Amino acid sequence: KVMDEKEIKRLEELDKKYFLHPTSSLKQHQEKGPKFIFTEGNGVYLKDVHGDQYIDALASLWNVNIGHGRKELGEVASQQMGKLAYSSAFNNLSHEPVIRLSEKLASLTPGDLNVFFYTSGGSESNDTAFKLVRHYWKLKGLPEKKKIIGLERGYHGVTVAASSATAIRQFQEMAPGKAPDFLHAVPHKTNCELGDKNDPDYARSLRGIIEREGAETIAAVIMEPVQGAGGIHIAPEGYFEAVRQLCDEYGILMIADEVICGFGRTGQMFGVDNWNVVPDVMSMAKGITSGYIQLGAVGITERLRDDLANVSNDVLFHGFTYSGHPTACAVALKNIDILEKENLVEHTKQMESVLAKGFNYLEEKHSIVAKSRAKGLLGAFELLADRENGIQFSPDKTVAPLLVEQCFKRKLIVRPVTYGGTNIIAMSPPLVMTKEEIETMIAIFDEAIKAVK
Ligand code: PLP
Repeated sequence: KVMDEKEIKRLEELDKKYFLHPTSSLKQHQEKGPKFIFTEGNGVYLKDVHGDQYIDALASLWNVNIGHGRKELGEVASQQMGKLAYSSAFNNLSHEPVIRLSEKLASLTPGDLNVFFYTSGGSESNDTAFKLVRHYWKLKGLPEKKKIIGLERGYHGVTVAASSATAIRQFQEMAPGKAPDFLHAVPHKTNCELGDKNDPDYARSLRGIIEREGAETIAAVIMEPVQGAGGIHIAPEGYFEAVRQLCDEYGILMIADEVICGFGRTGQMFGVDNWNVVPDVMSMAKGITSGYIQLGAVGITERLRDDLANVSNDVLFHGFTYSGHPTACAVALKNIDILEKENLVEHTKQMESVLAKGFNYLEEKHSIVAKSRAKGLLGAFELLADRENGIQFSPDKTVAPLLVEQCFKRKLIVRPVTYGGTNIIAMSPPLVMTKEEIETMIAIFDEAIKAVK
């Protein structure tokens, strides 16, 4: 036990009294207090105040890519803080970590995505991307080009613009709702994006929406290579290429949201590398530091930067106090160094088939398990009431949260995603997860599924 019972109770009471949890049920919090109070992390494991060890199969929030407990990152942060913890990057001021990180990112990102703006996370990165593309078109003399089209089920964050691009209804119900000029298209309809007007979904596809709204009103499209919070939906082969082609055809910029997929998650350094597509703008966060410190980035092509610089003598009136935070940049560099030295991207690619094999085993054994999928170490399976006839559970009987509760009891942390009758179990473990650890996770699912049946 890490802490005595009295102290644990006291912490739980203080949590209930003073902490407003992000994206959490406040009612459940007031009734039951915090679910876990963690004290330590090591590799794929998290330990709580009771001394219980859990497999963190979500890498906490899809972000602890290099795994927990890497002392080197703390050492780098400490060295950088001792030298220059913070200095501003406004007004063309600079420092070594931000310069070195930008050079490093340029070597990793595809094509001429070689210029980087920094933020403190994914939502800020997406808001920045939206402002940059709108600014770009305005400077090009096309101020009406300001609409942003995302995909249904897409998640892009919670700031006002990012939550407007997000298509998960609950996030938009939070005041002030959806901002104007954000639209959503039906995801992954490659045939429609290639021009198949006979498809009943055509009008809801990106191409259908662009034709309806007029390309002269649209600044950019944004999409995740694999939709994460919406339930792990992998873009089908050919889809990203079709969208790239569509954007080029209509003069629309393409933003790839690599907040989850970036830095190895899908078995490639970036999600778009699965399809050899170069977006115009790429937003990043999470895996850039594996969550050891807050950092996000927005990559733009050299072409875009040159255009912005050519048409404008103005100041770029956009910047956060922590844009290019020296300590965060130093930690990111070390994190990327570990990803590379330990071949974690390649390892992740290898582990995809182990995860898929585990899912197949679960499908064979349990008639409620269906539609499993994995890209690198980003995976999910669904739960169906009647798999043979493709019948979902009724929306008032959400089974995914029940299964996740059973997983928690067996010391495995995963995430339920439910909408309508759809019940998805999502996972995104640290990229250091071994074959044996994946097998342990599958064995826990096996037991947990039996317990909910
Ligand atoms: N974009 C994607 C694809 C995400 O998954 C997330 C967070 O989960 C975000 C953006 C928002 O990032 P943040 O929570 O760091 O603001």
